[in-house]
Amino acid sequence: MKPFPRAEISRHALKNNLARLHELAPSSKVMAVVKANGYGHGLLNVAQCLDNADGFGLARLEEALALRAGGVKAKLLLLEGFFRAADLVTLVEHDIETVVHHESQIEMLEQAELNKPVTVWMKIDSGMHRLGFVPDEFKVVYQRLLDCDNVAKPINLMTHFACADEPSNPYTAEQLAVFEALTKDLPGDRTLANSAGALFWQQSQANWIRPGIALYGVSPVVGDLGTKHGLIPAMELVSQLIAIRDHKAGQPVGYASYWTADKDTKLGVVAIGYGDGYPRNAPLGTPVLINGRLAPIVGRVSMDMLTVDLGADAKDSVGDKAVLWGKELPVEEVAEHIGTIAYELVTKLTPRVAVCLD
Ligand code: PLP
Repeated sequence: MKPFPRAEISRHALKNNLARLHELAPSSKVMAVVKANGYGHGLLNVAQCLDNADGFGLARLEEALALRAGGVKAKLLLLEGFFRAADLVTLVEHDIETVVHHESQIEMLEQAELNKPVTVWMKIDSGMHRLGFVPDEFKVVYQRLLDCDNVAKPINLMTHFACADEPSNPYTAEQLAVFEALTKDLPGDRTLANSAGALFWQQSQANWIRPGIALYGVSPVVGDLGTKHGLIPAMELVSQLIAIRDHKAGQPVGYASYWTADKDTKLGVVAIGYGDGYPRNAPLGTPVLINGRLAPIVGRVSMDMLTVDLGADAKDSVGDKAVLWGKELPVEEVAEHIGTIAYELVTKLTPRVAVCLD
């Protein structure tokens, strides 16, 4: 028997989405971003499925080590960089590349005793103002990296966009111009584009793109759908009905009696709650797909369960499948109902949700 709740992950969708990104950025290699447990899809599962990706982007060293331990031989890049001098030895030992975005990292590189130089990607703050070297310090920092024997040459160059998910926002073009002006004549690989960059800012594709959310079949843009770009949702979050109850008009349901029925109906209790990562703040009316119909959430989401209004004529049975999001109920739409982004929904699932690769 299949466990529930579970996130069913489609290999076919993941492979399709990588191929589609190659098609959309034909001159670029793809650094598949699989941080945060492969955006909730299973870190090793996703990396093994996308064995033709040109590399993988991770946030933390532990994630990269988990991939190496799982036998992944591809290029690995730490997008947040390393934080401790001792990490540098580990990077060299496991052939892991790192972003360098802060002076403290350069100091560690300068002082380290390594038996091989580290491949670095110098992060330029072209306007995101979160990580990276600002244009005024670029020249000095670049020279310092050039002078450091522990840094492999050429130095690779990167930046990250603040507003690429707003396709009409000119800020991305401004960031692009800042990056180009600084890096125009320099050697080395370059990467600027996240999913939104790859999909909407072709000029930013450079020789590497770094898509995350698009690989999972989801659009980075609020109000848009991954399917409109030839992507296929890779995750279906499913659970099942564990109770069906006759419910009378005027009766409330759940904690704080948050919702009261205005007519007789049948309620379905679905085994998923905030203890599984389904948001507690999902408002009344957030849809759940049951036997091909959208049933609205009624009452508060609790730790292990939520309640939906199946309607007075419902013919559903205990044990029937409930889809929280997936191909037929896009996670982008569910996120909009809840007032968040799909990224948050997929990455917040807890270990209680079984991740099953088909
Ligand atoms: N590059 C960096 C530096 C990131 O932090 C992220 C994700 O947050 C990505 C690429 C992938 O972004 P997206 O999932 O929007 O494609």
